[in-house]
Amino acid sequence: MGQKPSFRETLARDGAFTVTYELVPGRSTRARQFRKIIRFLEEASSDDRLHGVSITENAGGHPALSPEVLGREIKARGLDPILHFSCKDKNRNQIESTLFARDREGLHNLLIITGDYPRYGFMGKAKPVFDLDAVHLLRLISAMEEGFVLPEEAPGGGVKLPPMPFFKGCVVSPFKRYEAELLPQYYKLHRKIAAGAHFIITQVGFDARKFHELLLYLEEEGLKVPLLGSVLVMDRRLARIIFRGVVPGVRISRDFLARVEEEEEKLGPRAALIRAAKLIAVLQGMGYKGVHLCGAKPVYEDIVFLLEKAQEFAPRWQEFVPEFQDSPPDTFYLFRKDPETGLNLRERNERADASRAPFSLLLNLFIHDLFFEPGKGLYPHAKRLAQKIAGSRFEPLFTRFEYTMKQLLFDCERCGDCTLGEMAFLCPQSQCAKGLLNGPCGGSQDGHCEVYPEKRCLYVRVYERLKALGQEEELKEGFIPPRDWGLTGTSSWLNFYLGRDHHRHFSSPR
Ligand code: SF4
Repeated sequence: MGQKPSFRETLARDGAFTVTYELVPGRSTRARQFRKIIRFLEEASSDDRLHGVSITENAGGHPALSPEVLGREIKARGLDPILHFSCKDKNRNQIESTLFARDREGLHNLLIITGDYPRYGFMGKAKPVFDLDAVHLLRLISAMEEGFVLPEEAPGGGVKLPPMPFFKGCVVSPFKRYEAELLPQYYKLHRKIAAGAHFIITQVGFDARKFHELLLYLEEEGLKVPLLGSVLVMDRRLARIIFRGVVPGVRISRDFLARVEEEEEKLGPRAALIRAAKLIAVLQGMGYKGVHLCGAKPVYEDIVFLLEKAQEFAPRWQEFVPEFQDSPPDTFYLFRKDPETGLNLRERNERADASRAPFSLLLNLFIHDLFFEPGKGLYPHAKRLAQKIAGSRFEPLFTRFEYTMKQLLFDCERCGDCTLGEMAFLCPQSQCAKGLLNGPCGGSQDGHCEVYPEKRCLYVRVYERLKALGQEEELKEGFIPPRDWGLTGTSSWLNFYLGRDHHRHFSSPR
């Protein structure tokens, strides 16, 4: 058999429909599941149906076999591996070091994800790291693709490393219930694309209109990045797990669960494959560039059955749209419904009116503009004062004063690299479980946090407050560099005026 086209080549080819398959490695290579996976790969390698095989990294927040082990096995069989690369367990140095290793091994296809919050670990819960978010990580990899210049302070500082040909994707969820939960997802996608994402894979869901909404949104915004829809092969057992709400960011309704159970009763295990085949036909029909199969057991004949069924269903794809409408009745859609197709018209829906900005927000904004807008208000005086205080015997007192105020007002965590001004005066360090700086993770449910469901997601609140100011699109256009841990516990006000905080990465002078 000749050389198969790579995942990257297939995605770039006009008219090609890309199919990737997601493997979830267990914990040990000695388990029976691992042997099944190897057999699956052997069979897949003698066929052209799969254009990429992805490997999850500690999915669900559980430790598992590191993805490069299967990556090598996949590559050795002439298939193209796509390694999930999450931010949850590695700090930025470990990330960089892992990327050097991936480059050396030729494992260049990466799916960049924030990652699920760690669930458990050896002798207690693991430490959640999230040192970089997905946008930071995409930027780091883009820099490596161009030829990474080592920072001056590093050994060999200033040296440019040879370019590394990574091919990286990102994830987005259109399956969010409320406007304030959905739009920050789309706005973060802009930041991911600006950071260099080469392809997009959706979150799992069962609402064709939501899949279509994302496609229209990308078209309207001129975001020309190939989009793959996730297709979950969901049997009764998996459906029950999802219904319990334990898979971050994925939901099904009681009615959908009942349908899955009924179909499985009638058709047996093939029911899940047939449902997935219909969803593939719908996604292909509406214009997706491909699909990402997940949840399917590593049984290659199932994949063959599924893909052949999808081909058979393709000409009738519109018939199946009504079978995929599983969202709560009050779900916000960005576009008006097309009554004929059950999908969307190219007309935007009305958004809810913005609520009134709270007085505390307006006051914070006023003070911020007065002191922290370069060249304006009291900024020049405040800067001069900061220069006098820095390094003087008053600095510790000044720092204590700052943090006493900010602790009371903002639940400040003394990071020394303050982003309140960019986040509608809500602190991501203390109020987002993952400390994310450039938009939400995919794990929220009904506007509430994946990790602390009793709290609303920080980004839902940031969106609402920015919308009250008419500035919500800042979540689309801006970028916040990663926190500088060297500043922890130091005065963020002094750091700002002396050009030591994250603002130093932008060209405008402080
Ligand atoms: S606050 Fe929002 S973005 Fe942060 S962890 Fe919770 S769901 Fe994710």
